[in-house]
This record gives sequence, C-alpha cells and structure tokens, in this order.
Amino acid sequence: MKICGANKPLTPETHTNLKFDNHNTRPTWAEIDLDALTQNFSFVREVVADGVGIAPAVKADAYGHGAIECARVLESAGAAWLCVALPEEGIELRRAGIVAPILSLGGFWHGQEAACLRDSIVPVIYRADMAEGFDRAARDAGVVADVHVKIDTGMNRLGVPYDALAEFADALARCPNLRVDGVMTHFASADDRAQDDFTKLQTRRYFEGLALLKERGHRPTYRDLANSPALLLHPETRGNLVRPGGVLYGLWQDILPPDVSADTTSNSNLDAHINPHKLRNVMSVRSRVTLLKEVAAGVPLGYGGTFRTTRRTHVATVPIGYHDGIPRTLSNRGRVIVRAQYAPIIGRVSMDLTLIDVTDVRAVELWDTVTFIGGDGELGITAAEVARQAGTLSYEITCGISGRVPRRFVNRKS
Ligand SMILES: *Cc1c(COP(=O)(O)O)cnc(C)c1O
Repeated sequence: MKICGANKPLTPETHTNLKFDNHNTRPTWAEIDLDALTQNFSFVREVVADGVGIAPAVKADAYGHGAIECARVLESAGAAWLCVALPEEGIELRRAGIVAPILSLGGFWHGQEAACLRDSIVPVIYRADMAEGFDRAARDAGVVADVHVKIDTGMNRLGVPYDALAEFADALARCPNLRVDGVMTHFASADDRAQDDFTKLQTRRYFEGLALLKERGHRPTYRDLANSPALLLHPETRGNLVRPGGVLYGLWQDILPPDVSADTTSNSNLDAHINPHKLRNVMSVRSRVTLLKEVAAGVPLGYGGTFRTTRRTHVATVPIGYHDGIPRTLSNRGRVIVRAQYAPIIGRVSMDLTLIDVTDVRAVELWDTVTFIGGDGELGITAAEVARQAGTLSYEITCGISGRVPRRFVNRKS
C-alpha cells in the first residue's frame, strides 16, 4: 500500500480553495451563499403580487443554513415577518438584534408566555387554554397581545379543527387582552398536483373559517396559507402574506412537480438546473482529502468490508461522516465532486470518515476539496439528489448537517 503525498504540508498555497480554511479546525464546512439566498427571496418577491408580504421560515436554524445570518439577510431584503418553530428560536434572533416581527409557528409552551411578550414573539395559537393563558399573561403585563390563529383545514396536525372554530371563537371572546392579528392554515399536499382538489378543499375551509372569525368581530391584519409549493403552484392561496421556506434555500427539486423541475442528475451546472425557477443553491457541504492511498485489487474497505476493490484503486479518506449529516445510506451509493469530476463513495459512511474512489480523477492530490452537496465547476450535487439516495426529502438533509460542521457565510453584501 502506497501513501500518497504524505509529506506534503498543509499550506495556503496547496490549493486555492484553502483560502476558506481556518487552520485550527478540521477542513469540513458548509458554505452558505447569502447572495443566492437574497436572489431566491427576490424571486419570491417577483412571483407574488406587491401587496403580499413574505414571511420566510427560518425555523430549525434556517433549515440548517444558520438562522441568525439568514434572518439578517432576509430582514434587510424586506421580509415582513420571520417564522420560527418555537419561542426559543425567536429569542435567539432577538438576542442577535433582529427587529422584524417574529411568528412562532408552534405557539409556546406553558411558562413561555412572558418571554414571548417581552421579546415580541407572536405565537400561533390552536387551543382554548393557550388563548386563555396568553390572555392572562398579557393582562398581567398590561398589554393587548397579538396572536395568530391557526385553522386546521385538513392536514390534521396542528391547528383549531375547522369544524370546531366556532367554539374556539367563543373562548377568544373571553380573552379581552388578545388581538387576532393573523389567521393562517398549512397545506398537507400543495406539492402534489394529483391532490390539487384537496388543496382547494383546504383553501375553501380556510376562507370559511376566516369569514366566521370576521363575523365574530375579529379583524386580522394577516391572511396567510402558502408554503413554498402553494405560493408557486396555487396563486389563490397567497392571501396577503406567504410563508416560504424551502424555495428560499434553493430546495425546490422535490417539492415542485416534475413538469416544472429540471433533471438534477445530469452532468451540467447546478445553477443551470435551478434556473427554470431562477432559484439558486444556498448550501454547499465540502471537506478535503486528508489521506490518499493506493490499494491493490481484492481489498475490503471500511466497516464490514462492504466494498472490495476490483482493480488497483486510489482511495481518498475524507473527514466527514454521518454525525456531520452525511447519511449512512450513501454507503457504496453516493457520489462527490473532486477536481471537477464525480467520484463514488465506497464502503460504509462512518461516523466521522468517508472513503472515495478517486482512481479516475485526474491528478488528485492530498487536500483537494471534496464536494458532497453543491456546485463545483460545471458539476453539481443537490441536496435533493442526496435525499433521494437516502429515501428522504432535501429539507431533512440540510437540517441534518450537524452543528459540528461550521457554517461559512460567503457573498455577503455589506
Ligand atoms: C415550515 C413551514 C412553512 C414553510 O414550508 P416550506 O415547504 O419550506 O415552504 C410554512 N408554514 C408552516 C406552518 C411551516 O411549518
């Protein structure tokens, strides 16, 4: 077995991409293109009418992209609101200086009422006891507090069931310190054209519910229904506020139907795929070759020896694994980009390390950049491609890039 390039020092001259490296850390990182995020926001801005506000979902650390940085960029791009999943996420944004209105999509939990009021985090409410608890907290604070009411129009997950809204309105009538600032719903299948009738049914139930609340004297400022696929495919759902998440992060390939999605597996530029929607990839996940060796034919590699070389093979070891969010299901199936060429993942993806077959990559060297998600030269690997191999959705892939992987924010417009 030959170790290649072993005495080659890691210096900034080794490879131009090393300019991104902080030499005190493992060379594995997620690059977040803030300019791409801004452009995707502008795309949504172009799609929806002027009177419609945009409330980006920055929950779950902005789908893994870094909530604070993304929120700052989206706020200065003109986001009307920012949507988080829980008050803690909103509080983190306030601590970072975000002043835009923040909507907590999951509401709040017992004991968080005062914190929501203090940091102006507007909760979605969906149970009578939540309304009453928040009303009490508002009264104690001497304020009238805004809330958004979520109507469950058929997803059967979160919200006031559409056929129980009248009772909920009775409970609201007993809450003089609450003001219904918004009425919302969420779609179960807006991405599936085969279920358009169900999306239409949900939309109709929403507007009936909104009418009921208006009859009871509520004057909500915001009417919001649409997630990413709904705002693109069902214009009638835009109301006066839309709540996109995925499209802002360039994650559209598996939430828009195939007739408008481009093929993402062919070998052309990543952004070119996305251009049908003018949406750009935001997150790239990269690491470097940190051990390079040549092994003979017939040698087992990695845990379980699940890959056995069939020829003399150049094997690159890369310091990234499933704890970083590279799904173990990519073992012997996934691919990466090295020196503007695709190269297969071989053997089992382990917790901290992954092996790549670089035999066919021209002039591969120690410290070369290895792209797991994102573009490199003319080639690209989308989170949706990784998700397909892992049997999931692109959202789960970017959300799953763990906190161990530092986010490097690039193309920031200051
Ligand atoms: C996450 C979420 C969204 C955004 O959905 P995308 O598919 O990412 O656009 C919108 N509304 C609610 C209630 C959500 O939970």
